[in-house]
Amino acid sequence: MHELPVMNGILRVVMKHAALNRVTKVAAIQLQVGKLSDLEEKWMQHYFDFLTKGTLAEGAKLEIEWGDVVMRCGGCGQEFTTEPATDTFGICPHCGNKGGEILSGKEYYVKNMVAQ
Ligand SMILES: [Zn+2]
Repeated sequence: MHELPVMNGILRVVMKHAALNRVTKVAAIQLQVGKLSDLEEKWMQHYFDFLTKGTLAEGAKLEIEWGDVVMRCGGCGQEFTTEPATDTFGICPHCGNKGGEILSGKEYYVKNMVAQ
């Protein structure tokens, strides 16, 4: 359960942007979250609601876009997109090798913020 510190960090980014843009009320926050981030949507919204009580982001809705997992094959070096929790996860479609370097899929960041 590491959503709490993550949401804390995200809220800090939101508050900074709100201050810079003179936003007085945040309606929604678009987040890009990698499919390998281990973050669960319901906990993210839960902790976000908890943390934003009494702030200008109170009641804001989180809109989460799940980012694909991109790997570089340890066998042939080609990059490919792979779907977690499937039989083919981590298997290179070019050469069939399993495993490699994860290039993206663990990241999370604020993509956009909608002011009310
Ligand atoms: Zn390969």
